[in-house]
Amino acid sequence: MSVRAEATVAEAPPAEPAAEKFQYQAEVSRLMDLIVNSLYSHKEVFLRELVSNASDALDKLRFLSVTEPSLLDPNPNLEIRIKADQEKGTVTIIDSGVGMTRQELVDSLGTIAQSGTAKFFSAIKENKAALGDNNLIGQFGVGFYSAFLVANRVTVSTRHSKSDKQWVWEGEANENDYSVYEETDPDKLIPRGTVVTLTLKADDKFEYTDPVRILNLVKNYSQFISFPIYTWQEKT
Ligand code: ADP
Ligand code: MG
Repeated sequence: MSVRAEATVAEAPPAEPAAEKFQYQAEVSRLMDLIVNSLYSHKEVFLRELVSNASDALDKLRFLSVTEPSLLDPNPNLEIRIKADQEKGTVTIIDSGVGMTRQELVDSLGTIAQSGTAKFFSAIKENKAALGDNNLIGQFGVGFYSAFLVANRVTVSTRHSKSDKQWVWEGEANENDYSVYEETDPDKLIPRGTVVTLTLKADDKFEYTDPVRILNLVKNYSQFISFPIYTWQEKT
């Protein structure tokens, strides 16, 4: 009997890499509560925010590559791709930009460092009544966290152009912490850049996996992005 038990242990698949949990900065938790519970219109700004982050990451890489051209190896293309999967209810924003190290992931997606979000906060602090004013979100943007306007779960898989490791950030709406772990799925490894996958809320699934809707949003909100944006729908 004990022999059989041992054999079972030996045949068990290797354990998943340990995910480390982190608490959001208090402001981020408040912002996420606000996003999930109060801001219903202008939901579609999530795409503008994620495309703008992709564009910033491409700009950073382009700048760095002027003095260090090898950063563009092995993929010289600087581009943004948006993939919709109706079956899975996901929309994925992919860029071949600078990517993030593990430390940058934790520093950037767990705190509020950026100016747009800070302005948004002071605007709602100054005028309590404005808390329900959905125009604020269009005016200032709430950056990355606006993904939670339409998503239950957000996964960011990223590889910095100078790193040989790829890291995943995973957060859920209505949770106070997020996880970070190493990407080990060979199908998900990329040479450089960032893949942001939104698992859409039931109510938003249909709308934001519609390639026509996505294309229109890109045309309306992201017409000044200086990198090519490709959109397509996964066929199942
Ligand atoms: P902002 O873009 O105004 O700085 P965001 O909330 O949109 O604020 O993003 C926070 C930070 O997360 C960015 O400043 C950047 O450092 C990092 N980040 C977000 N998305 C990406 C991405 N696609 N590639 C690289 N870094 C990113
Ligand atoms: Mg941004």
